[in-house]
Order: sequence, then structure tokens, then C-alpha cells
Amino acid sequence: MFHLHCDVDNVSLYEREHGVAQSFDPHRIYDQALPMLLDLIETAGARATFFVVGQDAALDSCRRFCLLARSRGHEIGNHTFTHRGDLYRLSFADKEREIAACDEALSNLLGEPIRAFRAPGYYLDRDVLEILMARGYLYDSSVLPGVVNQLMGVVIRWQSGRAIDKAFGRRRYALASQAITRITSRKNPSRTILELPIATLPVARLPVHTTFVFLLGMGYFRFAAALLARFRRDAVFLFHAIDALDYPAHGDLSRKVPALRYSLEQRRRMLGEMLRTLRTAGFTATSTRLVAEAPSRWPDSRLWA
Ligand SMILES: [Zn+2]
Repeated sequence: MFHLHCDVDNVSLYEREHGVAQSFDPHRIYDQALPMLLDLIETAGARATFFVVGQDAALDSCRRFCLLARSRGHEIGNHTFTHRGDLYRLSFADKEREIAACDEALSNLLGEPIRAFRAPGYYLDRDVLEILMARGYLYDSSVLPGVVNQLMGVVIRWQSGRAIDKAFGRRRYALASQAITRITSRKNPSRTILELPIATLPVARLPVHTTFVFLLGMGYFRFAAALLARFRRDAVFLFHAIDALDYPAHGDLSRKVPALRYSLEQRRRMLGEMLRTLRTAGFTATSTRLVAEAPSRWPDSRLWA
């Protein structure tokens, strides 16, 4: 079964990462891109989890989208308050502030606790896990098994020609489990959290999320989806909100972000085909519902033992 997740990174985060002027309308992600993605996901009969950056909860458009998505059976997850690429070198207290501020912004908005987390830059460590467990989170989905993401970081740094203070996963993910595992707190062994790794190809461990589909083409997607449907009981398929953004063809980011190399109409067709293909293997209701049913049935993590 496929779990659909979407990282809601606003355009300013890409502009910052690629060193271009921060000028694009921050509401467009919420009032154009995400409604389009929501329609495509619902047409496929699925529900998704949207990981939202806490500082965006100050935007009317973000608040409207979160409430709309929740009312239609989707879920909102925590993607930290400011999406710091250098999360890895923050102190425990600063990591906690990034997580807690987002948690408070989103849970106040929705009037219910947030249970799902994804870190920026696929970075996860014991500090983050302990903070999440202390706050009662049900699952994290930050691990991207394999080493390809680290190689991507090298390419992006080389392309941009400057130092980027951002994690691109961790070397220790090379052999990380590709299945859901359970992690136990070292501070309080009665606390646990599940790790839902982002889908990667069996054996080769190439990432299977939309950025790679836009880089490698629909042939790659069809091959990857068939393998995942055959060999993985649960697979997290990850979208990014920018995948559905109406962005000018010759804008500052249009050669730098793989999705934006295609016209919006081409992307709409590609995303629609991805969702129709994934539907044949089935979708979970939402990740929280699936993992909350029987948290004890998942094996213990060796990565975080
Ligand atoms: Zn992000």
C-alpha cells in the first residue's frame, strides 16, 4: 500500500537554497498549487499527509488550506517552524524550539494534536526522536535510505557554486531499513515512535519521490512503482507542493528545480498518471490511521538501536 505525503515547502525556501532573489508570491503554494494537488489526489480516491512549515501558519492562505485539507480527511504534519537546513548543528534546545513552535502553530490552528513529523533535508537524529516521543508523536518520516540523496547534495552544491549549509540525509542511512520500524526512547523506555522511511527502490535504493521522477522521467516512475508494489508492503510516496506550482517558464528557479522544467499542464498529466498507477497497489487511509491501529506490530529499528 502507498502512503501519500506532501512536503509544503514554500517558494522562498527554494529561492534561499538556490541563492536567488526572494520575490515570488508566498500565497500561490497554498491557493493554487496545493488545491490542484488535492484535486488530483482525491480524484485517485486517496488521502494524504501534508507536512507544513510552522511559520507559514501566519499566512491566511496557509490557514485556509490546512483547514480545508483536514475537513476533507487529509492530515497535517509538522515540518518544523522555519525549515532550517542546518538542523543538524543546532543544540537540543534549538531543535526543540523548531519542533515545538511548529507543533503549537499547527495544533492551535486545527484544534487537535499533530502526530506526524518530517525534518527538512531528511535529517534525523536521536535528539529529534526524543523530542518527538516526549510530545507524543506517532511517527517520523525523515529517513531516505541509501546514499543517492547525499550525492544529490554534492551536485546541488556544485551547480549553485557556493556552500549550502543544509543536510542531504546522512551517511548512516546507507543501510537503513526500507520498511516501517519502531524506535524506543533512551530516556523513557515506555515511549516509542515509528519511522516511515521514504520510498526507495529495492536493492539499488534510488529515491522514488516526485523530484526523481521529474529528473529521470515517467519510465523511471513506472519501473519503480511496479517494483515497490511487488516488494514493499508499505511505501511512502512523497510529493512536494512546488510540483503543482504555476511558475513562470523563465523564472529564476525554472532551470534549478526539476519539476519546474515542465509546463504546468505537463506536470498535471504526469502527477495524474503517477496517482493512477499507485492506485492499482492501493492507498492507506492516512499514515496515522494505519500506524495507530497496531503500533506494536512493527519490528524494532536497528538504525536507532
Ligand atoms: Zn521541506
